[in-house]
Amino acid sequence: MDNSGQVKYIFCMSKYWSTTVKNIKPYTPGEQPKDKKYIKLNTNENPYPPSPRVIEAIRQVTDESLRLYPDPVCDLLRETIAAYYKVKKEQVFAGNGSDELLAFAYLAFFEPAEKPILFAEITYSFYPVYATLFKTKYKLIAVDDEFNVPAEGYYQENGGIIIANSNAPTGRGVPLKTIKTILGQNKDSVVIIDEAYIDFGGESAVGLIDEYPNLLVIQTMSKSRALAGLRIGYAIGSEGLIEAITRIKDSVNSYTLDRLALAGAVAAIKDDAYFQKTRTKIIQTRERISNRLTEIGFKVIPSQANFIFISYPQYPGSALFQQLREKDILVRYFNKPKIDNFLRVTIGTDVEMDKFLKTIAAIVAKR
Ligand SMILES: *Cc1c(COP(=O)(O)O)cnc(C)c1O
Repeated sequence: MDNSGQVKYIFCMSKYWSTTVKNIKPYTPGEQPKDKKYIKLNTNENPYPPSPRVIEAIRQVTDESLRLYPDPVCDLLRETIAAYYKVKKEQVFAGNGSDELLAFAYLAFFEPAEKPILFAEITYSFYPVYATLFKTKYKLIAVDDEFNVPAEGYYQENGGIIIANSNAPTGRGVPLKTIKTILGQNKDSVVIIDEAYIDFGGESAVGLIDEYPNLLVIQTMSKSRALAGLRIGYAIGSEGLIEAITRIKDSVNSYTLDRLALAGAVAAIKDDAYFQKTRTKIIQTRERISNRLTEIGFKVIPSQANFIFISYPQYPGSALFQQLREKDILVRYFNKPKIDNFLRVTIGTDVEMDKFLKTIAAIVAKR
């Protein structure tokens, strides 16, 4: 179907759509190409495989057990996560990816159409998508020229706060001291810290959950534990907040984590040696590549994530993105004010990153 045909078809069919569907603007995930082999640095996946213990654990799931529903309360996984972070099982929720968890959190903590929730002007683009879907008002906090978000932005009336630490797509981290101040200033609303990238050098807020009952920390196994394909996210917070998310989950789908995911996730948490080795490796590669890019004239935002946010003064971001794509290297470009000259580049293996470096250096040298 050509595009005009498609547009006409959608127009006809939209009479069946709810106003919610008519009004949403869905999130666009990074491309998962099937046509050819790219160096894939566009979706912040881990370049290393997950711990070998993960696949071993999955293999041990019997076909007999697959006949049965999985554990709806994810007891073993929550116990394993609780032991790892030194919290109680009742302070842990496990879900099918942290995106799902964020959606549950909106429903659990934010009132539609009341006080606006706050998040940064430049941050994970799923936050406004959920706000539209769940009819939550929101207010954007402006970032400065270096993509720092001033803490004072969060000192105003609100119905909730979401902070990505480290932030996406900039890689900027927020010091724990700042997070504490923000929590103290907002005792009447839930403050969600999305720590999808925390294992790559940031300071986690997990240790603050007993001190701040309004704090919910969300993490994922998609990035630092290389399990994007298994879909596991978890939240850590006071028992009362965990109970609220559980009530939402049990009103949507009681079995969000399947038996294979549960088995693999437990094994991933238990293999801490492998986790430490791979995340350290990614941090080292990131620092090495950041330094080299700076030397050849790139602006590189200091990153506490498994990606870097870069721009080249005399080369438009969109053109750089296209040039890299033609050389079979996929990165992420956002056509949005303030960041439309930047590229977000996931940290790959050393071999991949050396190819990336060589290619991008050659492209900008031609200017
Ligand atoms: C990747 C990412 C997530 C989602 O992770 P999943 O667990 O794979 O759903 C959430 N928040 C941020 C900021 C991310 O970058």
